[in-house]
Amino acid sequence: MDNREAKGVHLAMEYLTKNTQSLLDTGHADDSELSAKGKAVIVIGGGDTGTDCIGTALRQGAKSIVNFELMGKPPEERAENNPWPLWPLIYRVDYGHEEVAEVFGADPRQYHLMTKSFSKDAEGKVIGLNTVNVDFKDGKLIEIDGSEKIWDTQLVLLSMGFIAPEHYLSDDADIALDERGNYQATYGEYATSQTGIFTAGDCRRGQSLVVWAINEGRGVAEKVDEYLA
Ligand SMILES: Cc1cc2nc3c(=O)[nH]c(=O)nc-3n(C[C@H](O)[C@H](O)[C@H](O)COP(=O)(O)OP(=O)(O)OC[C@H]3O[C@@H](n4cnc5c(N)ncnc54)[C@H](O)[C@@H]3O)c2cc1C
Repeated sequence: MDNREAKGVHLAMEYLTKNTQSLLDTGHADDSELSAKGKAVIVIGGGDTGTDCIGTALRQGAKSIVNFELMGKPPEERAENNPWPLWPLIYRVDYGHEEVAEVFGADPRQYHLMTKSFSKDAEGKVIGLNTVNVDFKDGKLIEIDGSEKIWDTQLVLLSMGFIAPEHYLSDDADIALDERGNYQATYGEYATSQTGIFTAGDCRRGQSLVVWAINEGRGVAEKVDEYLA
């Protein structure tokens, strides 16, 4: 993508971890270059990570905050193709959305938007983000002609989801992976393809929730205990 390397375009986790580090190290006295203070911030992608970016940028004193979603606004109630017990794909308002609405007067989310490229100035700093509106027809993503737009920005945070755990350890220990690149092990058993090596939580099931991490953490502890005994 054009100008992805522009200064001011960062992965969400880079931004969030630097913010926490700065808070712990100096109480934010170090004035991190990643701070959103006074900047027009765009967060691409939703989810818990996107919400944390929105909330953090707000606390740092962002001038404005917009959150891009590729998909449309979810329905208020379950759709017919999303029955119980599937996870309900419905419209939710998280703390970051609520706080931005309180401060700036509107929910930060903008739907059906695809980023095409970034623009940068002579110093290589991001100054704009170019989008097009999209729709889904017959399972295909369609760009809507004439909907191109340029958004002013000085800080872009990329929060489009996690792919899989890093593989330096599984490569070294020759641990089998599942089709999504997670460490392969059955839920409730937690044993990897290598005897004496166990896996649990996000590493086994993919990016998930704290409640699952707690559940699998307890489960794997029991299995390791059995193995050692
Ligand atoms: C920004 C963000 C926001 C989130 N918000 C929410 C939320 O609001 N609600 C929710 O339920 N979930 C949320 N999640 C998901 C949740 O944090 C995870 O599902 C959960 O932390 C997974 O726990 P885990 O123990 O499996 O893995 P982790 O919490 O990732 O812990 C893995 C640990 O292993 C350590 N480690 C890695 N490699 C090695 C190694 N080689 N040797 C030793 N140690 C190693 C890491 O340093 C880390 O401490 C969020 C995640 C992110 C990233």
